[in-house]
Amino acid sequence: MEHFQIAIDGPSGSGKSTLARSVAQKLGILYLDTGAMYRACGLYAVDNNVSTKDESAISELMDSIDIEIVFVNGAQKVFLNKADVTDRIRLPGISQAASDVSRFRIVRERMVDMQRQIAGEKNVVLDGRDIGSYVLPNADFKFFLTADIRERAKRRLEEMLSKGVHDMTIEEVMADLEYRDEQDSNRAFAPLKKTSDAIEIDTTANTPQETLLALLGCLPKSILENAHDKDIL
Ligand code: C5P
Repeated sequence: MEHFQIAIDGPSGSGKSTLARSVAQKLGILYLDTGAMYRACGLYAVDNNVSTKDESAISELMDSIDIEIVFVNGAQKVFLNKADVTDRIRLPGISQAASDVSRFRIVRERMVDMQRQIAGEKNVVLDGRDIGSYVLPNADFKFFLTADIRERAKRRLEEMLSKGVHDMTIEEVMADLEYRDEQDSNRAFAPLKKTSDAIEIDTTANTPQETLLALLGCLPKSILENAHDKDIL
């Protein structure tokens, strides 16, 4: 297969980014984390003291936003008006801001244009909420991850602790996930949705390695044979 696209969608904490990163490493392809782009938009609103729920103010703000995605040895860096915000977009509070602003059509259209451009250039894996349903409806392989909300909250908390963020409880993380699940699934434009051609993987009881093997097991031999890391199955 010459040029292929892999779409991974699912709610927060379902294991998308861990899976997408390891798939990209194994296959030697590019991984684009689309959530980081909406996070940068949310951060820009917060930095400018603009309400993330005010569509016209956010639309105006989009005139002066410049987001750049740069890959350094495969690792994605996000620049917001020339400043590296790769770490700041992970701060508590920014996930809800991202979810708020990502409801707005103008925000999504701008981000989706960039995503399609990046995905058109190379073999890629993208993770997000609407990759299989809207960004890349013709993606060759579509996956939809799910997991129990307690498990998702536990993973998110561990991730935050590993990055030195100690000021959230498991209840607060769960409330953040519930807020975003609700909003991301019910927005009018390009909501979080499993398409009928996506393969669902419930990752609740899986190790990251088990989820990786489940995905790789769905890919054709021709792709696995050309993988960057041959030590796959
Ligand atoms: O994936 P992550 O949790 O970093 O995404 C942050 C927020 O960005 C999500 O809660 C969602 O609202 C939004 N998002 C989106 N579409 C995507 C990726 C993320 O709406 N493709």
